[in-house]
Order: sequence, then C-alpha cells, then structure tokens
Amino acid sequence: MTHPFLDLAPLSAAHFASIEDRVARLLRTEQDVVIMQGEALLPLEGAIRSTAGPGTVALNVITGPYGQTFGNWLRDCGAEVIDLTVPFHTAVTADQIREAFLARPEIDFVSLVHAEAATGNTNPVAEIGEVVRAHGALFYLDAVASIGAEPVLPDAWGVDLCVIGAQKAMGGPAGVSAVSVSARAWARMTSNPGAPRRSYLSLLDWKDRWVDAGRKTLLHAPAQLEMLALEACVERIEAEGLDKVMRRHAVAAAATRAGAPALGGGLKPYVHDATEAAPVATTLRTPSGVIASELVARALAADPTLPLAAGGGALSKEMIRVNHYGVDAAADAVQSSLAALGAALAEQGVPVDLEGARAAVDEAWR
Ligand SMILES: *Cc1c(COP(=O)(O)O)cnc(C)c1O
Repeated sequence: MTHPFLDLAPLSAAHFASIEDRVARLLRTEQDVVIMQGEALLPLEGAIRSTAGPGTVALNVITGPYGQTFGNWLRDCGAEVIDLTVPFHTAVTADQIREAFLARPEIDFVSLVHAEAATGNTNPVAEIGEVVRAHGALFYLDAVASIGAEPVLPDAWGVDLCVIGAQKAMGGPAGVSAVSVSARAWARMTSNPGAPRRSYLSLLDWKDRWVDAGRKTLLHAPAQLEMLALEACVERIEAEGLDKVMRRHAVAAAATRAGAPALGGGLKPYVHDATEAAPVATTLRTPSGVIASELVARALAADPTLPLAAGGGALSKEMIRVNHYGVDAAADAVQSSLAALGAALAEQGVPVDLEGARAAVDEAWR
C-alpha cells in the first residue's frame, strides 16, 4: 500500500541545496544558509556553542523565555554574560544597547530574540543592528517567531547568525530550521577551540564538508519529510507573496488588539505599545480575579482547535496568548478566539460585549 509519508526516495544533495537557496531568498541574504534538521533549538544552541567561549563577553537581551535559555547556554560555554532584562510588556531599545556598550566596551557578542511568541513583543532589530555593527560585536538573532510575520533582513540589519524555524508564521512543521551565517561568524567559529566539531551541533562540520566542498555530498541522510515540508512551506509563501503573508499577520495582531478591549470584561493587550507588539501572536492581560490558564482551559473546552494558550510559568495567571500565525492569521480565527474568550468570561459572570468585539475585528480587517 502506498502512503504519502512512507517509502520516500532519498533527498538528493542538489535538492537539499536548492531548498537552502530558497530559504536564502526568503531571508534576502547572500550569506551561507545552513538547514538544520531539527527543531529550532538545534541551530539556536549550535550557533551559540560555535561562537561563544571563555573570553567572550556577551550582552544577552531578555524579552521573554528564550533569552533566558540563551544566557544559560552562553554561561555554560564559559562566556561572561551581561543580561539585559526588559519588562515583557515592552521591547528593548537601541539606546539601551548603546548604554550597555558604553558601560562594558569589551562586549563582543549580542544575543537577541526578534519577536517573542511567548510574550508577544517584537524588538527593533534594524536600529539595534546599527548600534551592534558600529561597536563591532557579533550579532545573533532568533527570528523563529518573526519569519513570515514581519520583515527579517539579516544582511540589511547586519545580523551574523539569524535562526529561523518553520513552525510559526511559515505554517510548517517543527522539525526543520535554518541559520544564515556571515563571514564574520564563520571566522569566529574557526578560531574558537571550543566550537563543536564532529558533532550534531556543529556548524563547522557543515562548513567544511558541505558549504566549502561545493554542496555535493550531504553529511548524513537528510530527513526527507521535514525537508519536503520546508520546501512546501516556502513555495506556498512565494505563491501567496511574502508581503501578503506578513500583512495577514499584522492585521490579525491589530484586529486582536482592537477586539479584546471592545469585548470588555477587562481583557487588555499585554504589550502596551502597538509598535512593540509582535505580528505573530497577541498576548492579552486578564483582569484581577480572572486566572488566564483557567479562562483559556474553558475556551478550549468549547473548541480545542482554537489557537489559544496561557502564558508559560508565572505568566499563566495573567497572560493569554492568541497565536494567530500561519493559517490562523485570518479573520475567522481571531473572531472565534475572542468569541470563545468572551463566552468563557460570561460563564464566570463577567459581562462582555460579543457584538462589539466582532465589529472591532471586522473594522480592523477592512
Ligand atoms: C517558537 C519559538 C522557538 C522555537 O521553540 P519551541 O518552543 O520549540 O516552539 C524559538 N524561539 C522563539 C522566539 C520562538 O517563538
């Protein structure tokens, strides 16, 4: 019996290289793009372990949970880490980065998350990139939650290591990711004695045996399902047009931010300033007396397919995430999410205006 997932032919090196080129076009980059066949944490960790070590002084910006993870990896590599923690309802500014460099001129590495699906904020990478460039530090960016939802331009912004994953706005599976690597980043890895080599985490293995060898022979059998899915999701974005895909995400965020206050019941956008709110997902703050995780559980009990989640850890009390990405960057996903949250609030005896919310979302969509 044939099956769409089974008995797949091996993926050729030429096919693999063509998928890398397609991802490079999506990122508008001339840098080398290496596809990593694992969830995005694979290149995120690999890129840090390849470029940081004893002697590295890293400025690690924390605007959500991923920044915390990066700080831990950096410390584990032996780097000195200066954490710059920003309240989760805002974004970091280029001035804060400038001040950090003034205080510690030895900083030679900056790690930043572009958009945080987990906290709903997005950071001004273009402006920050200028400051990092002027200082000469290596610039590492987690663009997993921004790619497809808003512009990601590693070359224009001076990003040395830009990691993307397919599982958010690209609408793909979680098993494939990619990293663009600048010449400066390759040089840093080559001179780093602690950089993983002959390891699944190694980027240098891919440089030596794949990129520099003319991309003729793969290091191991590629994961066909994931690679084909990555190709399909880039193809689908190309067919719709990247600008259109990003526009859908921006409108979904604007509609959610407009609809939640119109719903009443005390739900408010968690990120105060719309310019600092990520197009990939909108976080909402619950009023006192309403536990976010309980409200979301009630909404999901009515419809488990809704793109709703509570914040992680301590945020689960006060934060709701509306994950309007991929196919859910659509009017009906936003409408049904807010309607379900409204119904769950009403069950709790909180008065809501379902019609008002619906009209506000419709209005934003026009
Ligand atoms: C989603 C996401 C990732 C990938 O991590 P998962 O928790 O496995 O989904 C990495 N970085 C950011 C900023 C993300 O939003």
